[in-house]
Amino acid sequence: MKAYRKSQNLTTSQDASFGSNRVVNKDNKRVITVGLVGNPNCGKTSLFNKLSGSQGSTGNYPRVTVEIQESRIEYKGVEIRIKDLPGIYSLTSTSLEERIGRDYLHSEEADVLLNILDAGNLDRSLFFTTQLLEMGQATVYVLNMIDEANKKGIRIDNKDLSSMLNGPVLETNAKLGVGMDAVLDAVIEMADKPHDEIHPITLPYDSHLEEAITKVQDLIIKLHPGQMDQHQSRWLSLKLLEGDDELLRREGEHSHLIELVRRARYDLSHSHGESCDSMFANTRYGFIHGLLLEVRTVADCPDKRMQITRSIDQIILHRLLGLPIFVGLMWMMFESTFTLGAYPANWIDHGVRALSAQAGDLLPHGLLRDLLMDGIIMGIGAVVVFLPYILILFFFIAMFSETGYLARTSFLLDRIMHIFGLHGKAFIPLVMGFGCNVPAIMATRTIESPRARLVAVLINPFMSCSQRLPAFILLSGAFFPDNAGQMIFIMYMISIATAMGAAVFLSKLVIRGGTESFVMELPPYRLPTLGSIITHIGTRAYDFVRMVGGVIVVGSITIWFLQQFPRDITYSVNYETAIAQAQTIADAAQSKLAVTELNNKKEQERMENSYLGMIGQSITPIFSIQGFGWKDSVAILSGIFAKEVVVASYGVLYGQDNSSETGSAGLRNAISQAMTPISAFALMVFLLLYSPCLSTIAAIKREAGWSWAGFSIIFSLTLAWTFSTVIVLVGGLFF
Ligand code: GDP
Ligand code: MG
Repeated sequence: MKAYRKSQNLTTSQDASFGSNRVVNKDNKRVITVGLVGNPNCGKTSLFNKLSGSQGSTGNYPRVTVEIQESRIEYKGVEIRIKDLPGIYSLTSTSLEERIGRDYLHSEEADVLLNILDAGNLDRSLFFTTQLLEMGQATVYVLNMIDEANKKGIRIDNKDLSSMLNGPVLETNAKLGVGMDAVLDAVIEMADKPHDEIHPITLPYDSHLEEAITKVQDLIIKLHPGQMDQHQSRWLSLKLLEGDDELLRREGEHSHLIELVRRARYDLSHSHGESCDSMFANTRYGFIHGLLLEVRTVADCPDKRMQITRSIDQIILHRLLGLPIFVGLMWMMFESTFTLGAYPANWIDHGVRALSAQAGDLLPHGLLRDLLMDGIIMGIGAVVVFLPYILILFFFIAMFSETGYLARTSFLLDRIMHIFGLHGKAFIPLVMGFGCNVPAIMATRTIESPRARLVAVLINPFMSCSQRLPAFILLSGAFFPDNAGQMIFIMYMISIATAMGAAVFLSKLVIRGGTESFVMELPPYRLPTLGSIITHIGTRAYDFVRMVGGVIVVGSITIWFLQQFPRDITYSVNYETAIAQAQTIADAAQSKLAVTELNNKKEQERMENSYLGMIGQSITPIFSIQGFGWKDSVAILSGIFAKEVVVASYGVLYGQDNSSETGSAGLRNAISQAMTPISAFALMVFLLLYSPCLSTIAAIKREAGWSWAGFSIIFSLTLAWTFSTVIVLVGGLFF
């Protein structure tokens, strides 16, 4: 085969110390010719450009290079001539571009071949390599796109691969030019290698193939006496049997040989029931498979992962088990949120109380001290206590979304969602609504059908956002201390049920139209990384802190002012004299009790006559059936601005009632005496469903326009009022 070599203006000299052909240019510099070979789109041209500093055209689609480009560089005193060849999938194929590459290989012009492999697609890239291996040319293997491979979790043992391919293996990123010097060093080293160290690798073919190969090989040796060694004749035999038309043409004069090859191919395909070409291909793929099993580890092997994914899905997406599992997971989420969250919440509570006491000691008595202690600290403190609950809840939601379970829920619930006139795709925005309705409403943009989108937008506010959670925790802790977790779970169930019911109502009566089917991608399950979970939760914590610093401070101060003024109130009783009288009671304990009671009454009357009291009382009649007091009315009103202010309002409103007991325990106690548990449950449902907050209203307006935003407010207020009324009326029958 060396006979095919063209020496193209180069003088060839044998040099014992190098063992290979040593070529020099006119400046007496050593010249090494390098050919870049490999599949289309594996980065040959990129590597060529990076090695040579020139700008060929690269593109992320196969077959950009059609002609051979050459570039000469000097590296460590050696002139290296690099040739960029068109991509080749297989040496036996017949397309024009592939022929150019094949002819170049046959010419054996290159001193060293650089076989570029797509490290992320080794199965395919190595097919060409198996053909190259049989040629026995000096080859350096380049695992290009190593960055992408690593991203896919692929690790390759270069040393093992190198010994199996019998040539150096290097990793590069041709896009960024990483690993270029190592490639050039390996090229020079390879060129220096003695010839007898470079030999072809024999692939183990099927025994029938081997028989045919030997037969053809024997004839070739007879026809080319003394011209070919064992390797060369075997290679030619292989190629002829594999159907290399170029070599068949070259051997055209040996009709005997051509006939033998044709017969052998025919017989093999008949006895095996598959073409001779695919028998060769099978052996090559088998070789690659075995090779890769040895040298490649995929951290998270896609195939194995898909298998695991499939088995998990058989359970999780089971027709009967799927939904109970889903409900079970949700229940577990809320139950553990409440039980686990209670500990850190307690620590924060203590911290807030200590801070408040500190501030109280430092500041002189007066309006400013009251503002700081009863307004700002009480308001913020009442809300900050709930940070742990929110973080734990979001830990679970992050886990569900990172593992791939959340995507399944869309699939799981799609059938059910359709019953409600909703799209499976509406589920993710709905779950996002548990966080905040504003981004969730924006996320409905993934739903193509405008009708289905509008429904998804309008029902989103019924999904209980995390800002509503503190109010539920406060109220269920106060009224249902033994079943607080379950109560919160129930609230979320009501939230979902209402959203679904509203969807049916809207799609059947208000926004008509058909539903269309869709394809849901189910990503493979993966273990969530610590980083992604931390990012998820961190964002929440940050949002929360920002919110506390902004809207809650403003809300608390506003409410505090409204309940402090006007100051000149005419009381129904002269409390001063009444208290003085109570102090004269002989029994000390009784006297103290009477004084406290009078003080509380006075405070109560003062607040009822404050601006806040007036506002609250003016709307309280609406809630006469439910049994909500004026403080509840105030909290409800404040929640229209932002849901998180509800608890802050309670913090400020009840702050003064309990001079002895402050903090969240005191708040719970005070509230628990204000109404019956049935009313409290009705209040929770009301707070869950009534008007969206201002930001959400704005989001609805942006997505659907003012009239739908107005519709949303009226619709939700009506629902909330009706539901809470029904709860109190029905509950009254039983309790
Ligand atoms: P060729 O067909 O073998 O010549 O491949 P090209 O050099 O045209 O490259 C194909 C695409 O792969 C281009 O979009 C390159 O930017 C990109 N590419 C090449 N090498 C790398 C690499 O190491 N890493 C990454 N991420 N992309 C690469
Ligand atoms: Mg190219």
